[in-house]
Amino acid sequence: MEWETVIGLEIHAQLNTVSKIFSGASTAYGAEPNTQACLVDLGYPGQLPVLNAEAVAKAVKFGLATGSKVARRSVFARKNYFYPDLPKGYQISQFELPIVETGKIEVVLEDGSIKVVGLTRAHLEEDAGKSLHEDFAGMTGIDLNRAGTPLLEIVSEPEMYNAREAVAYMKTIHTLVRYLDISDGNMQEGSFRCDANVSVRPKGSEKLGTRAEIKNLNSFRFVERAINFEVERQIDILESGGKVVQETRLYDSVKDETRSMRSKEEANDYRYFPDPDLLPVVLEESYIEDIGKTLPELPGQKRKRFIDEHGLSAYDAGVLTASRELGDYYEHVVGRLGGDPKLAANWVSGELAGALNKAGLDITESVVGPQALADMLGRVLDNTISGKIAKDVFEAMWNGEGTADEIIEARGLKQITDSSAIEAVIDQVMEANPGQLADYRSGKDRLFGFFVGQVMKATQGKANPAQVNDVLRKKLAG
Ligand code: ADP
Ligand code: MG
Repeated sequence: MEWETVIGLEIHAQLNTVSKIFSGASTAYGAEPNTQACLVDLGYPGQLPVLNAEAVAKAVKFGLATGSKVARRSVFARKNYFYPDLPKGYQISQFELPIVETGKIEVVLEDGSIKVVGLTRAHLEEDAGKSLHEDFAGMTGIDLNRAGTPLLEIVSEPEMYNAREAVAYMKTIHTLVRYLDISDGNMQEGSFRCDANVSVRPKGSEKLGTRAEIKNLNSFRFVERAINFEVERQIDILESGGKVVQETRLYDSVKDETRSMRSKEEANDYRYFPDPDLLPVVLEESYIEDIGKTLPELPGQKRKRFIDEHGLSAYDAGVLTASRELGDYYEHVVGRLGGDPKLAANWVSGELAGALNKAGLDITESVVGPQALADMLGRVLDNTISGKIAKDVFEAMWNGEGTADEIIEARGLKQITDSSAIEAVIDQVMEANPGQLADYRSGKDRLFGFFVGQVMKATQGKANPAQVNDVLRKKLAG
């Protein structure tokens, strides 16, 4: 039997507002436990929530950017459950009337093809607190700093058919929320995480299989591994005649397995009802229009423009638009260089990305700025240095040895383009290697590389490679 995997994701993006969604307490990460929870977050009787307008604006921005329907009227509801990190006994969320509904996300897959994933909805809600199990033997600590932090829960249709598609979709949303500046997307701090709903069905079947929901995955790698493990587990159950039970599971990254947490609750278990402490959110047309005007160029638009304007491949364009800052850096290089956008793309996504990665730096912290890089590439374009020498120059720039011109001058790296000088070196090399010369002339073509190597060695890599090839071919032929 052949099986098909079906995946739907619920992504939680923490909105980067200064204060919480229903109180004035700070949302700053990393404070001493329970220093950023006010009476509203603690669920004290008589304390009333007041909606943070910034959270609404950010949700609307997301809705507009995804071509979704932005609800003119949405309603906050209470989702009731009992848990120590939820002092009110309910989470304020949106249920029947979410603020964003039915959109589409274009996802670029690894092979450059585009897959469209439907968005079911995106709703506003508050986060719960955190249980701390490690610090107290035999006890659990509760930190309520996170209680009341604004979240946008982004729910996809069950339209992804393998783990890689799910990861590509999640990365697309991650890039988008950072472009829109509605979330910092910091996964280590839990600002961007997802629940993966996974089921399998016989290939060709229309009916969805029973799903398991894997909670709180906070890295792309874990999403991929957790889904792959879960698919295998479900297929094993079905093939040995069993039934998958609908349940909530946890992924253990150390053991690389998922395990059962609790049986799945249904919506009616939560006794949802509209929160009587909050008015419905009613948005005027002009408000939505004004937010529309603040949208930046979106990642998909930028990607297409890079392909059209700079002649990049879909792949390169995808890499260089992964963040707004990276795209800006690249365009800065191209603008200053005034030509050869492909060379600039290779360097930004190659040498530069490698150096950043090694140093653990973000593009905005790059030691070599876009102007300096462009000036160096200008020396490649005007034939002052070869592409190979450029890598040494770049490394020296990274190590703070100065500008490209200073380094080329100080190290004497100028390319030799004077053809009589190149000819002289070639003559010397031929004279010094009579055996190889004879062999070459009697048909051992492979020795051509040997001669190129010798010439480069004699010129410390500075001879213009194209000229060396040219002249050498003629001279060796005799
Ligand atoms: P909840 O998890 O709150 O019960 P839903 O039933 O709306 O909410 O589903 C949540 C997510 O699960 C959605 O992303 C949806 O696409 C996905 N999903 C629903 N059914 C399946 C299924 N059989 N297989 C895979 N994903 C599913
Ligand atoms: Mg769910």
